[in-house]
Amino acid sequence: MPALAVDAAAPVAHAFAACDAARFPAPLMGPTAAATATEKPDAAAWSADLSSALYNVDGWGAPYQGVYPVKCNQDRHVVEDIVEFGEPFRFGLEAGSKPELLLAMSCLAARGNPDALLICNGYKDDEYVSLALIARTMGLNTVIVLEQEEELDIVVEASRRLGVRPVVGMRAKLRTKHAGHFGSTSGEKGKFGLNAAQILSVVAKLKTLGMLDCLQLLHFHIGSQIPTTGLLADGVGEAAQIYCELARLGAAMRVIDVGGGLGIDYDGSHSAQTDMSVAYSLEEYAAAVVAAVGRVCDRKGVAHPIICSESGRALVSHHSVLVFEAFSASPPGRIDPATGYLLDELTDDCHADYRNLMAAAGGGGRLCEIVARGMGAAEPPRTYHINLSVFTSLPDMWAIGQMFPIIPIQRLGERPAVDGVLSDLTCDSDGKVEHFIGGRHSLPLHELPVHGTRGYYLGMFLGGAYQEALGGLHNLFGGPSVVRVSQSDGPHCFAVTRAAAGPSCADVLRSMQHEPEVMFEVLKQRTDGATAAALARAFGAMPYLSFDPEAASMASGESSGMSSDSEG
Ligand code: PLP
Repeated sequence: MPALAVDAAAPVAHAFAACDAARFPAPLMGPTAAATATEKPDAAAWSADLSSALYNVDGWGAPYQGVYPVKCNQDRHVVEDIVEFGEPFRFGLEAGSKPELLLAMSCLAARGNPDALLICNGYKDDEYVSLALIARTMGLNTVIVLEQEEELDIVVEASRRLGVRPVVGMRAKLRTKHAGHFGSTSGEKGKFGLNAAQILSVVAKLKTLGMLDCLQLLHFHIGSQIPTTGLLADGVGEAAQIYCELARLGAAMRVIDVGGGLGIDYDGSHSAQTDMSVAYSLEEYAAAVVAAVGRVCDRKGVAHPIICSESGRALVSHHSVLVFEAFSASPPGRIDPATGYLLDELTDDCHADYRNLMAAAGGGGRLCEIVARGMGAAEPPRTYHINLSVFTSLPDMWAIGQMFPIIPIQRLGERPAVDGVLSDLTCDSDGKVEHFIGGRHSLPLHELPVHGTRGYYLGMFLGGAYQEALGGLHNLFGGPSVVRVSQSDGPHCFAVTRAAAGPSCADVLRSMQHEPEVMFEVLKQRTDGATAAALARAFGAMPYLSFDPEAASMASGESSGMSSDSEG
């Protein structure tokens, strides 16, 4: 997927830092603030050992240390950018499986801040837990978060075997429930986490084993797209009570991990009425979390914890734009003057005029159509065929009705005169886009260039989270080519720094255990040299429609959204 690399971790860290700064004194806010803090007289106590000071300054609160849940987009460059840009903010990673843990370990080891958290969520077996413990021996700040009570036995056994003392967290099952589509993991009946009785049982076991000091983190996740700060504050407040109780019971609590859920305004409405938007800003989200944790901790006399969040969608949704071509369109539809919905749109007077004209015209189809058009009746939407697979590139749109903003990215100075819906390349009736932001059932589009030329490009925005990993191989279309665009200094705004072709037909066949080389040999037996060459090309071609660079360069000449100053 074409990717725009952005400094994603910084705005989240800054938002938390801003409210931390209002609530807590500056020395705890990170490297920049820490540098100024050394000038303060009371900073001497912690300046020798910055990390221990960050965690242990009594009465001074604690820093924010976010993690990026790599499941949102495991793309190497996305993860590496977040760790690299997040390094000054001690930004870490969250993993939910063994491969995700491996990639998080290697990325944090190569370029992460040593204090950055590596949160291990998800169901765990002995291999997963052992890997997480090995990560601690490498100096990574790894926390194994128990999703189920039984996982404690695996952790205790593996830590004894490997001789590594674990740092353990627990995922709490909260009563607070997010009622939207993304809230099904929350509430007492939610799939994940430990209820109050199970939490107490883990505490008792750890105490018996002399390991209560290993319990340091409380995690919860209310669900994605948390609609309001009110609901957020309820969940965070409830979790903060549990956090304080764990501290009272003797656990060495130091981190409250508020999970993901920081929402995206997909439809621009800034309202909590649908799953497509949320009723708060990033700053309001951060302020609600800090206030809710602080209120409970202050009341209970518990030191402010490090606040960790696992925002995924909010970090990476904006980083990519899916650019695709509309290559043909159905012919203009005829208006059927007898269609009820057209008549419904007319005022009573117009309705009467319309009937009179119809009667005068003797019901003549074409004339009636002209009359209907003249009275403002809309043409039925036309179908634009687009060079992608909805199942591969927009899986959430197909599966859960998620909407993403889609607009033409060229001819922006020209009023779009056609209403269109989009139909993809797959031979599947679900492979279409017929619902658009704002409750629209069609999209304003331009007439396609004259027959025979190609090049009318649309962009789909905010799809940088979840879509790439969820997208499958329906119809064996595979993924599109990826162009990496980075912000650059100098007279031009952007630089294309990397281009990678999407998978070939052979690649996608291989992913389904076919052997393209063998297939080619079998087919070659039945053909002559020239045809064999065409066959070989077909195996190497991309599954999408072939790209006409000449037409595309003509088309891109008209669009001037961005310029590039170098290519790699
Ligand atoms: N953390 C956990 C445990 C999750 O299950 C999820 C997503 O479902 C996230 C973080 C990321 O959530 P979001 O992308 O809504 O921020």
